Amino acid sequence: MSSTPLTWLTAAQSRRLLDAREVSAVELAEAHLARIEALDGDIGAFLHVMADVALAQAADADRRIAARDVAPMTGIPIALKDVLVTTDAPTTAGSKILQGFRSPYDATVVRRLREQGAVFLGKANTDEFAMGSSNENSAYKPVHNPWDLSRVPGGSSGGPAASVAAGMATVSLGSDTGGSIRQPAGFCGIVGVKTTYGRVSRYGLIAFASSLDQIGPFARTVEDAALLLGAVAGHDPHDSTTAAVPVPDYAAALGGDLRGVRVGIAREYNVDGMEPGVSDAVGAAIDRMRDLGAEIVDVSLPHTEYALATYYIIAPAEASANLSRFDGVKYGLSVEAPSLRETYERTRGEGFGPEVKRRIMLGTYALSAGYYDAYYVKAQKVRTLIKQDFDQAFEKVDVIVAPTSPTVAFGLNARTSDPYQMYLADVFTIPANMAGICGVSIPCGMSEGMPVGLQILAKPFDETTMFRVAHAYEQAEQWKDTRPAVGSLA
Ligand code: GLN
Repeated sequence: MSSTPLTWLTAAQSRRLLDAREVSAVELAEAHLARIEALDGDIGAFLHVMADVALAQAADADRRIAARDVAPMTGIPIALKDVLVTTDAPTTAGSKILQGFRSPYDATVVRRLREQGAVFLGKANTDEFAMGSSNENSAYKPVHNPWDLSRVPGGSSGGPAASVAAGMATVSLGSDTGGSIRQPAGFCGIVGVKTTYGRVSRYGLIAFASSLDQIGPFARTVEDAALLLGAVAGHDPHDSTTAAVPVPDYAAALGGDLRGVRVGIAREYNVDGMEPGVSDAVGAAIDRMRDLGAEIVDVSLPHTEYALATYYIIAPAEASANLSRFDGVKYGLSVEAPSLRETYERTRGEGFGPEVKRRIMLGTYALSAGYYDAYYVKAQKVRTLIKQDFDQAFEKVDVIVAPTSPTVAFGLNARTSDPYQMYLADVFTIPANMAGICGVSIPCGMSEGMPVGLQILAKPFDETTMFRVAHAYEQAEQWKDTRPAVGSLA
Protein backbone atom coordinates (compact mmCIF):
# COMPACT_ATOMS: atom_id res chain seq x y z
CA MET A 1 0.00 0.00 0.00
CA SER A 2 1.14 3.51 -0.64
CA SER A 3 2.16 5.62 2.34
CA THR A 4 0.18 8.61 1.09
CA PRO A 5 -2.96 9.16 3.21
CA LEU A 6 -6.06 8.18 1.23
CA THR A 7 -7.30 11.75 1.10
CA TRP A 8 -4.13 12.96 -0.65
CA LEU A 9 -4.05 10.27 -3.34
CA THR A 10 -4.50 11.53 -6.88
CA ALA A 11 -7.22 10.02 -9.06
CA ALA A 12 -4.53 8.24 -11.09
CA GLN A 13 -2.95 6.75 -7.94
CA SER A 14 -6.38 5.80 -6.59
CA ARG A 15 -7.19 4.07 -9.90
CA ARG A 16 -4.10 1.86 -9.60
CA LEU A 17 -4.76 1.00 -5.95
CA LEU A 18 -8.46 0.34 -6.56
CA ASP A 19 -7.82 -1.89 -9.56
CA ALA A 20 -5.12 -3.82 -7.66
CA ARG A 21 -7.68 -4.23 -4.83
CA GLU A 22 -5.21 -2.64 -2.39
CA VAL A 23 -7.81 -0.10 -1.35
CA SER A 24 -11.58 -0.22 -1.73
CA ALA A 25 -13.85 2.51 -3.02
CA VAL A 26 -15.72 2.34 0.29
CA GLU A 27 -12.49 3.01 2.22
CA LEU A 28 -11.72 5.95 -0.05
CA ALA A 29 -15.23 7.37 0.36
CA GLU A 30 -15.13 6.91 4.15
CA ALA A 31 -11.75 8.64 4.42
CA HIS A 32 -13.02 11.65 2.46
CA LEU A 33 -16.29 11.85 4.35
CA ALA A 34 -14.35 11.75 7.64
CA ARG A 35 -12.11 14.57 6.49
CA ILE A 36 -15.12 16.62 5.40
CA GLU A 37 -16.61 16.01 8.85
CA ALA A 38 -13.37 17.09 10.53
CA LEU A 39 -12.54 20.14 8.41
CA ASP A 40 -15.51 21.51 6.60
CA GLY A 41 -16.89 23.31 9.62
CA ASP A 42 -13.84 25.61 9.28
CA ILE A 43 -13.70 25.70 5.46
CA GLY A 44 -17.34 25.70 4.32
CA ALA A 45 -16.72 24.05 0.95
CA PHE A 46 -19.90 21.96 0.96
CA LEU A 47 -23.52 23.09 0.89
CA HIS A 48 -24.76 19.52 1.05
CA VAL A 49 -22.77 16.37 1.89
CA MET A 50 -24.06 13.25 0.12
CA ALA A 51 -22.74 10.69 2.61
CA ASP A 52 -25.36 7.98 2.03
CA VAL A 53 -25.26 8.38 -1.74
CA ALA A 54 -21.46 8.29 -1.70
CA LEU A 55 -21.26 5.12 0.37
CA ALA A 56 -23.83 3.34 -1.82
CA GLN A 57 -22.03 4.44 -5.00
CA ALA A 58 -18.72 3.30 -3.50
CA ALA A 59 -20.13 -0.15 -2.71
CA ASP A 60 -21.36 -0.37 -6.32
CA ALA A 61 -17.96 0.74 -7.56
CA ASP A 62 -16.28 -2.03 -5.55
CA ARG A 63 -18.58 -4.58 -7.20
CA ARG A 64 -17.72 -3.21 -10.64
CA ILE A 65 -14.01 -3.30 -9.86
CA ALA A 66 -14.33 -6.94 -8.69
CA ALA A 67 -16.05 -7.71 -12.01
CA ARG A 68 -13.33 -5.79 -13.91
CA ASP A 69 -15.94 -3.43 -15.35
CA VAL A 70 -13.90 -0.30 -14.74
CA ALA A 71 -13.89 3.23 -16.22
CA PRO A 72 -11.38 5.98 -15.31
CA MET A 73 -13.65 7.54 -12.65
CA THR A 74 -14.99 4.31 -11.07
CA GLY A 75 -14.74 4.71 -7.30
CA ILE A 76 -13.16 8.19 -7.43
CA PRO A 77 -14.56 10.67 -4.83
CA ILE A 78 -15.81 13.82 -6.56
CA ALA A 79 -17.38 17.12 -5.42
CA LEU A 80 -19.89 18.86 -7.71
CA LYS A 81 -20.41 22.61 -7.86
CA ASP A 82 -23.96 23.32 -6.76
CA VAL A 83 -24.94 24.69 -10.17
CA LEU A 84 -24.96 21.15 -11.61
CA VAL A 85 -28.35 19.52 -11.17
CA THR A 86 -28.51 16.14 -9.47
CA THR A 87 -31.49 13.88 -8.80
CA ASP A 88 -30.27 12.61 -5.44
CA ALA A 89 -29.35 15.88 -3.71
CA PRO A 90 -30.71 19.43 -3.65
CA THR A 91 -29.31 21.98 -6.13
CA THR A 92 -29.36 25.60 -4.97
CA ALA A 93 -26.85 27.51 -7.12
CA GLY A 94 -25.86 29.15 -3.82
CA SER A 95 -29.19 31.01 -3.84
CA LYS A 96 -32.09 31.24 -1.42
CA ILE A 97 -34.43 31.24 -4.40
CA LEU A 98 -33.58 27.56 -4.98
CA GLN A 99 -33.36 26.44 -1.36
CA GLY A 100 -34.39 22.76 -1.21
CA PHE A 101 -34.87 22.50 -5.00
CA ARG A 102 -34.58 18.93 -6.36
CA SER A 103 -34.01 18.36 -10.03
CA PRO A 104 -35.97 15.61 -11.77
CA TYR A 105 -32.95 14.85 -13.96
CA ASP A 106 -29.14 14.77 -13.80
CA ALA A 107 -26.88 17.19 -15.68
CA THR A 108 -25.14 15.35 -18.54
CA VAL A 109 -21.74 15.59 -16.81
CA VAL A 110 -23.30 14.15 -13.63
CA ARG A 111 -24.98 11.35 -15.58
CA ARG A 112 -21.73 10.47 -17.35
CA LEU A 113 -19.85 10.28 -14.06
CA ARG A 114 -22.64 8.30 -12.44
CA GLU A 115 -22.58 5.81 -15.30
CA GLN A 116 -18.83 5.42 -14.83
CA GLY A 117 -19.29 4.56 -11.17
CA ALA A 118 -17.90 7.79 -9.69
CA VAL A 119 -18.62 8.62 -6.03
CA PHE A 120 -20.39 11.93 -5.32
CA LEU A 121 -19.29 13.42 -2.00
CA GLY A 122 -21.56 16.43 -2.14
CA LYS A 123 -22.66 19.70 -3.65
CA ALA A 124 -19.97 22.33 -3.36
CA ASN A 125 -20.42 25.94 -2.35
CA THR A 126 -20.54 28.73 -4.93
CA ASP A 127 -21.26 32.41 -5.31
CA GLU A 128 -24.97 32.84 -5.96
CA PHE A 129 -25.66 31.80 -9.57
CA ALA A 130 -21.87 31.72 -10.06
CA MET A 131 -21.65 35.51 -9.86
CA GLY A 132 -18.57 36.49 -7.93
CA SER A 133 -14.83 36.10 -7.47
CA SER A 134 -14.58 35.24 -3.78
CA ASN A 135 -17.50 32.91 -2.94
CA GLU A 136 -18.71 35.62 -0.54
CA ASN A 137 -21.90 35.98 -2.61
CA SER A 138 -23.09 32.53 -1.54
CA ALA A 139 -26.44 32.99 0.19
CA TYR A 140 -25.51 30.25 2.67
CA LYS A 141 -21.96 30.73 3.93
CA PRO A 142 -18.54 31.89 2.78
CA VAL A 143 -15.71 29.48 1.94
CA HIS A 144 -12.36 29.86 3.73
CA ASN A 145 -9.12 29.33 1.82
CA PRO A 146 -7.42 26.15 3.08
CA TRP A 147 -4.02 27.91 2.95
CA ASP A 148 -5.16 30.72 5.25
CA LEU A 149 -8.64 30.58 6.72
CA SER A 150 -8.84 34.37 6.91
CA ARG A 151 -8.67 34.64 3.11
CA VAL A 152 -11.12 33.88 0.31
CA PRO A 153 -10.72 30.79 -1.89
CA GLY A 154 -11.64 32.75 -5.02
CA GLY A 155 -14.89 32.27 -6.86
CA SER A 156 -17.30 31.56 -8.02
CA SER A 157 -16.27 27.89 -7.70
CA GLY A 158 -14.81 28.41 -4.21
CA GLY A 159 -16.25 25.17 -2.83
CA PRO A 160 -15.01 22.88 -5.60
CA ALA A 161 -11.54 24.48 -5.38
CA ALA A 162 -11.23 24.46 -1.58
CA SER A 163 -12.51 20.88 -1.27
CA VAL A 164 -9.77 19.57 -3.59
CA ALA A 165 -7.06 21.82 -2.13
CA ALA A 166 -7.87 20.63 1.42
CA GLY A 167 -7.93 16.91 0.55
CA MET A 168 -11.69 16.66 1.11
CA ALA A 169 -12.29 15.54 -2.51
CA THR A 170 -9.94 13.92 -5.02
CA VAL A 171 -11.26 16.02 -7.92
CA SER A 172 -14.27 18.26 -8.55
CA LEU A 173 -16.27 19.94 -11.28
CA GLY A 174 -16.89 23.67 -11.51
CA SER A 175 -18.07 26.20 -14.09
CA ASP A 176 -16.18 29.10 -15.64
CA THR A 177 -17.98 32.06 -17.21
CA GLY A 178 -15.29 34.69 -16.67
CA GLY A 179 -12.70 32.86 -14.57
CA SER A 180 -14.65 30.91 -11.98
CA ILE A 181 -12.53 27.76 -12.34
CA ARG A 182 -9.08 29.19 -13.09
CA GLN A 183 -9.14 32.00 -10.51
CA PRO A 184 -10.09 29.82 -7.49
CA ALA A 185 -7.69 27.12 -8.71
CA GLY A 186 -4.95 29.77 -8.66
CA PHE A 187 -5.96 31.08 -5.23
CA CYS A 188 -6.07 27.54 -3.78
CA GLY A 189 -2.87 26.20 -5.39
CA ILE A 190 -4.45 23.52 -7.59
CA VAL A 191 -5.16 22.82 -11.26
CA GLY A 192 -8.38 24.17 -12.85
CA VAL A 193 -9.45 24.01 -16.49
CA LYS A 194 -11.72 26.29 -18.49
CA THR A 195 -12.61 24.11 -21.44
CA THR A 196 -13.17 25.28 -25.01
CA TYR A 197 -16.68 26.60 -25.61
CA GLY A 198 -18.56 23.55 -26.92
CA ARG A 199 -16.27 20.93 -25.39
CA VAL A 200 -18.46 19.91 -22.42
CA SER A 201 -22.25 19.69 -22.31
CA ARG A 202 -24.00 22.34 -20.21
CA TYR A 203 -27.27 20.39 -20.12
CA GLY A 204 -28.24 20.59 -16.46
CA LEU A 205 -25.84 23.45 -15.65
CA ILE A 206 -27.88 26.30 -14.15
CA ALA A 207 -27.18 28.98 -16.75
CA PHE A 208 -25.47 32.29 -15.92
CA ALA A 209 -24.29 33.67 -19.30
CA SER A 210 -24.94 31.13 -22.01
CA SER A 211 -22.43 32.37 -24.58
CA LEU A 212 -19.64 32.14 -21.98
CA ASP A 213 -20.40 29.35 -19.45
CA GLN A 214 -18.28 26.19 -19.57
CA ILE A 215 -17.91 23.27 -17.14
CA GLY A 216 -14.44 22.00 -16.28
CA PRO A 217 -12.36 20.01 -13.80
CA PHE A 218 -10.39 20.86 -10.67
CA ALA A 219 -7.60 18.51 -9.57
CA ARG A 220 -4.29 18.51 -7.70
CA THR A 221 -2.38 17.32 -10.79
CA VAL A 222 -2.58 17.98 -14.52
CA GLU A 223 -2.99 14.25 -15.15
CA ASP A 224 -6.08 14.09 -12.92
CA ALA A 225 -7.62 17.12 -14.63
CA ALA A 226 -6.99 15.43 -17.99
CA LEU A 227 -8.62 12.21 -16.77
CA LEU A 228 -11.71 13.97 -15.43
CA LEU A 229 -12.15 16.11 -18.54
CA GLY A 230 -11.91 12.98 -20.71
CA ALA A 231 -14.67 11.42 -18.61
CA VAL A 232 -17.19 14.24 -19.11
CA ALA A 233 -16.33 15.88 -22.48
CA GLY A 234 -17.95 15.34 -25.84
CA HIS A 235 -21.02 15.97 -27.93
CA ASP A 236 -24.43 15.82 -26.26
CA PRO A 237 -27.71 15.86 -28.20
CA HIS A 238 -29.24 17.72 -25.22
CA ASP A 239 -26.87 20.71 -25.69
CA SER A 240 -26.77 22.01 -29.25
CA THR A 241 -23.72 24.15 -28.43
CA THR A 242 -21.55 21.06 -27.91
CA ALA A 243 -19.31 20.35 -30.88
CA ALA A 244 -19.11 17.00 -32.64
CA VAL A 245 -15.33 17.02 -32.21
CA PRO A 246 -13.81 13.71 -31.03
CA VAL A 247 -12.48 13.66 -27.46
CA PRO A 248 -8.79 12.74 -27.46
CA ASP A 249 -7.26 10.62 -24.70
CA TYR A 250 -5.84 13.68 -22.91
CA ALA A 251 -4.07 11.74 -20.17
CA ALA A 252 -2.37 9.35 -22.63
CA ALA A 253 -0.96 12.33 -24.55
CA LEU A 254 0.93 13.71 -21.51
CA GLY A 255 4.71 13.50 -21.35
CA GLY A 256 7.74 15.03 -22.97
CA ASP A 257 9.47 18.34 -22.54
CA LEU A 258 8.88 21.69 -24.16
CA ARG A 259 11.36 21.47 -27.01
CA GLY A 260 9.89 23.12 -30.09
CA VAL A 261 6.89 24.53 -28.21
CA ARG A 262 6.30 28.22 -28.91
CA VAL A 263 5.11 29.97 -25.75
CA GLY A 264 3.58 33.42 -26.25
CA ILE A 265 3.86 36.21 -23.68
CA ALA A 266 1.41 39.07 -24.10
CA ARG A 267 2.58 42.43 -22.86
CA GLU A 268 -1.05 43.41 -22.18
CA TYR A 269 -1.20 40.89 -19.33
CA ASN A 270 0.59 43.29 -17.06
CA VAL A 271 -1.67 45.71 -15.26
CA ASP A 272 -1.45 48.33 -12.55
CA GLY A 273 -2.07 46.69 -9.23
CA MET A 274 -0.27 43.47 -10.13
CA GLU A 275 1.49 42.21 -7.02
CA PRO A 276 5.29 41.90 -7.35
CA GLY A 277 5.13 38.40 -5.82
CA VAL A 278 2.83 37.33 -8.65
CA SER A 279 4.99 38.85 -11.43
CA ASP A 280 8.10 37.27 -9.90
CA ALA A 281 6.57 33.80 -9.73
CA VAL A 282 5.19 34.02 -13.26
CA GLY A 283 8.53 35.37 -14.55
CA ALA A 284 10.34 32.44 -12.93
CA ALA A 285 7.87 30.01 -14.51
CA ILE A 286 8.55 31.47 -17.95
CA ASP A 287 12.31 31.08 -17.35
CA ARG A 288 11.72 27.47 -16.35
CA MET A 289 9.75 26.86 -19.54
CA ARG A 290 12.64 28.30 -21.54
CA ASP A 291 15.02 25.92 -19.71
CA LEU A 292 12.73 23.06 -20.68
CA GLY A 293 13.19 23.94 -24.34
CA ALA A 294 10.31 26.31 -25.06
CA GLU A 295 10.79 29.17 -27.46
CA ILE A 296 9.46 32.33 -25.77
CA VAL A 297 7.75 34.68 -28.25
CA ASP A 298 6.23 38.14 -27.65
CA VAL A 299 2.66 38.44 -28.85
CA SER A 300 0.16 41.26 -28.73
CA LEU A 301 -3.49 41.10 -27.69
CA PRO A 302 -4.34 44.79 -28.04
CA HIS A 303 -8.07 44.51 -27.25
CA THR A 304 -7.52 42.70 -23.95
CA GLU A 305 -7.87 45.99 -22.11
CA TYR A 306 -11.55 46.15 -23.14
CA ALA A 307 -12.39 42.59 -22.13
CA LEU A 308 -13.51 43.34 -18.57
CA ALA A 309 -15.81 46.20 -19.62
CA THR A 310 -17.24 44.11 -22.47
CA TYR A 311 -17.83 41.16 -20.16
CA TYR A 312 -19.81 43.33 -17.74
CA ILE A 313 -22.23 44.17 -20.55
CA ILE A 314 -22.57 40.72 -22.11
CA ALA A 315 -22.60 38.53 -18.98
CA PRO A 316 -25.24 40.58 -17.07
CA ALA A 317 -27.35 40.90 -20.24
CA GLU A 318 -27.46 37.13 -20.67
CA ALA A 319 -27.93 36.63 -16.93
CA SER A 320 -30.93 38.96 -16.85
CA ALA A 321 -32.59 36.81 -19.53
CA ASN A 322 -31.59 33.45 -17.97
CA LEU A 323 -32.70 34.41 -14.47
CA SER A 324 -36.16 35.46 -15.61
CA ARG A 325 -37.17 31.81 -15.19
CA PHE A 326 -36.98 32.14 -11.40
CA ASP A 327 -40.38 33.65 -10.88
CA GLY A 328 -41.98 31.81 -7.97
CA VAL A 329 -44.12 29.74 -10.31
CA LYS A 330 -41.90 27.05 -11.77
CA TYR A 331 -39.12 26.43 -9.27
CA GLY A 332 -37.98 26.96 -5.73
CA LEU A 333 -39.09 29.85 -3.56
CA SER A 334 -42.60 31.16 -4.07
CA VAL A 335 -43.80 34.09 -1.96
CA GLU A 336 -47.57 34.28 -2.02
CA ALA A 337 -49.08 37.61 -2.98
CA PRO A 338 -52.48 38.89 -4.10
CA SER A 339 -51.51 39.11 -7.80
CA LEU A 340 -49.18 37.25 -10.15
CA ARG A 341 -47.10 40.38 -10.65
CA GLU A 342 -46.63 40.81 -6.92
CA THR A 343 -45.74 37.11 -6.61
CA TYR A 344 -42.94 37.69 -9.12
CA GLU A 345 -41.77 40.84 -7.39
CA ARG A 346 -41.80 39.48 -3.88
CA THR A 347 -40.29 36.10 -4.80
CA ARG A 348 -37.46 37.71 -6.73
CA GLY A 349 -37.07 40.52 -4.21
CA GLU A 350 -36.65 38.09 -1.32
CA GLY A 351 -35.01 35.21 -3.19
CA PHE A 352 -32.11 36.95 -4.96
CA GLY A 353 -29.10 38.44 -3.18
CA PRO A 354 -27.64 41.91 -3.86
CA GLU A 355 -25.02 40.96 -6.48
CA VAL A 356 -27.55 38.97 -8.51
CA LYS A 357 -29.94 41.92 -8.41
CA ARG A 358 -27.14 44.25 -9.51
CA ARG A 359 -26.41 42.00 -12.51
CA ILE A 360 -30.10 41.74 -13.47
CA MET A 361 -30.43 45.52 -13.37
CA LEU A 362 -27.23 46.08 -15.38
CA GLY A 363 -28.28 43.48 -17.93
CA THR A 364 -31.84 44.67 -18.30
CA TYR A 365 -30.59 48.21 -18.80
CA ALA A 366 -28.06 47.15 -21.44
CA LEU A 367 -30.75 45.27 -23.36
CA SER A 368 -33.48 47.89 -23.14
CA ALA A 369 -34.81 49.76 -26.16
CA GLY A 370 -32.54 52.61 -27.14
CA TYR A 371 -29.53 51.18 -25.30
CA TYR A 372 -29.29 47.77 -26.97
CA ASP A 373 -27.23 49.04 -29.93
CA ALA A 374 -25.08 51.33 -27.82
CA TYR A 375 -24.17 48.66 -25.26
CA TYR A 376 -24.98 45.08 -26.18
CA VAL A 377 -24.35 45.21 -29.94
CA LYS A 378 -21.19 47.25 -29.43
CA ALA A 379 -19.93 44.83 -26.79
CA GLN A 380 -20.43 41.94 -29.20
CA LYS A 381 -18.34 43.77 -31.81
CA VAL A 382 -15.54 44.33 -29.31
CA ARG A 383 -15.78 40.66 -28.42
CA THR A 384 -15.06 39.77 -32.04
CA LEU A 385 -11.95 41.96 -31.95
CA ILE A 386 -10.78 40.18 -28.78
CA LYS A 387 -11.24 36.83 -30.48
CA GLN A 388 -9.36 38.00 -33.59
CA ASP A 389 -6.40 39.03 -31.41
CA PHE A 390 -6.16 35.46 -30.14
CA ASP A 391 -6.58 33.98 -33.66
CA GLN A 392 -3.65 36.10 -34.85
CA ALA A 393 -1.49 35.30 -31.83
CA PHE A 394 -2.09 31.56 -32.23
CA GLU A 395 -0.70 31.75 -35.77
CA LYS A 396 2.66 32.46 -34.13
CA VAL A 397 2.53 30.44 -30.91
CA ASP A 398 1.16 27.17 -29.52
CA VAL A 399 0.14 28.53 -26.12
CA ILE A 400 -0.03 31.88 -24.35
CA VAL A 401 1.15 32.12 -20.75
CA ALA A 402 -0.06 34.74 -18.27
CA PRO A 403 -0.76 35.17 -14.57
CA THR A 404 -4.14 33.75 -13.58
CA SER A 405 -4.90 36.75 -11.34
CA PRO A 406 -3.05 39.98 -10.51
CA THR A 407 -2.95 39.11 -6.80
CA VAL A 408 -2.90 36.13 -4.48
CA ALA A 409 -6.05 35.32 -2.48
CA PHE A 410 -7.24 38.41 -0.64
CA GLY A 411 -8.79 38.63 2.81
CA LEU A 412 -12.41 37.80 3.55
CA ASN A 413 -14.46 41.04 3.45
CA ALA A 414 -11.56 42.95 1.85
CA ARG A 415 -13.44 43.69 -1.40
CA THR A 416 -17.10 43.14 -0.61
CA SER A 417 -17.93 46.83 -0.42
CA ASP A 418 -16.33 47.64 -3.78
CA PRO A 419 -17.75 45.63 -6.70
CA TYR A 420 -15.24 47.10 -9.15
CA GLN A 421 -12.28 45.83 -7.09
CA MET A 422 -13.98 42.44 -6.99
CA TYR A 423 -14.49 42.46 -10.78
CA LEU A 424 -10.79 43.25 -11.33
CA ALA A 425 -9.86 39.83 -9.92
CA ASP A 426 -10.88 38.38 -13.31
CA VAL A 427 -9.03 40.79 -15.57
CA PHE A 428 -6.70 38.03 -16.86
CA THR A 429 -9.25 35.22 -17.08
CA ILE A 430 -12.16 36.91 -18.88
CA PRO A 431 -10.49 37.27 -22.32
CA ALA A 432 -10.41 33.47 -22.79
CA ASN A 433 -14.17 33.25 -22.18
CA MET A 434 -14.78 36.07 -24.64
CA ALA A 435 -12.76 34.23 -27.29
CA GLY A 436 -14.11 30.76 -26.49
CA ILE A 437 -10.62 29.26 -26.17
CA CYS A 438 -9.36 26.85 -23.49
CA GLY A 439 -7.10 27.62 -20.54
CA VAL A 440 -5.72 26.02 -17.41
CA SER A 441 -4.42 27.49 -14.17
CA ILE A 442 -1.62 25.57 -12.48
CA PRO A 443 0.39 26.48 -9.37
CA CYS A 444 3.68 28.27 -10.14
CA GLY A 445 4.98 29.53 -6.81
CA MET A 446 4.16 31.19 -3.52
CA SER A 447 3.84 34.79 -2.42
CA GLU A 448 2.94 35.94 1.13
CA GLY A 449 2.60 32.23 1.97
CA MET A 450 -0.17 31.90 -0.63
CA PRO A 451 -0.15 30.03 -3.96
CA VAL A 452 0.28 31.88 -7.28
CA GLY A 453 -1.49 30.61 -10.41
CA LEU A 454 -0.05 30.43 -13.92
CA GLN A 455 -2.50 30.46 -16.79
CA ILE A 456 -1.78 28.52 -19.99
CA LEU A 457 -4.15 29.38 -22.85
CA ALA A 458 -4.49 27.35 -26.04
CA LYS A 459 -6.47 27.27 -29.28
CA PRO A 460 -10.08 26.08 -29.35
CA PHE A 461 -10.25 22.28 -28.94
CA ASP A 462 -6.49 22.07 -28.36
CA GLU A 463 -6.75 20.99 -24.72
CA THR A 464 -4.14 18.36 -25.58
CA THR A 465 -1.39 20.95 -26.14
CA MET A 466 -2.58 22.96 -23.11
CA PHE A 467 -2.30 19.86 -20.90
CA ARG A 468 1.06 18.78 -22.35
CA VAL A 469 2.66 22.15 -21.67
CA ALA A 470 1.12 22.34 -18.19
CA HIS A 471 2.30 18.82 -17.41
CA ALA A 472 5.87 19.41 -18.61
CA TYR A 473 6.12 22.46 -16.37
CA GLU A 474 4.41 20.75 -13.43
CA GLN A 475 6.79 17.79 -13.57
CA ALA A 476 9.81 20.10 -13.45
CA GLU A 477 8.60 21.87 -10.30
CA GLN A 478 7.59 20.97 -6.75
CA TRP A 479 4.35 22.93 -6.48
CA LYS A 480 2.04 19.97 -6.92
CA ASP A 481 3.49 18.43 -3.76
CA THR A 482 3.10 21.62 -1.69
CA ARG A 483 0.00 21.35 0.45
CA PRO A 484 -1.78 23.59 2.91
CA ALA A 485 -1.21 22.74 6.56
CA VAL A 486 -4.92 22.82 7.34
CA GLY A 487 -6.06 19.69 9.13
CA SER A 488 -2.69 18.05 8.55
CA LEU A 489 -3.29 15.84 11.56
CA ALA A 490 -6.76 14.80 10.47
N1 GLN B 1 -16.12 36.57 -11.29
C1 GLN B 1 -16.79 36.69 -12.55
C2 GLN B 1 -18.19 37.20 -12.32
O1 GLN B 1 -18.47 37.55 -11.24
C3 GLN B 1 -16.80 35.34 -13.25
C4 GLN B 1 -17.76 34.39 -12.67
C5 GLN B 1 -17.76 33.07 -13.36
O2 GLN B 1 -16.86 32.73 -14.10
N2 GLN B 1 -18.83 32.33 -13.13
O3 GLN B 1 -18.99 37.27 -13.20
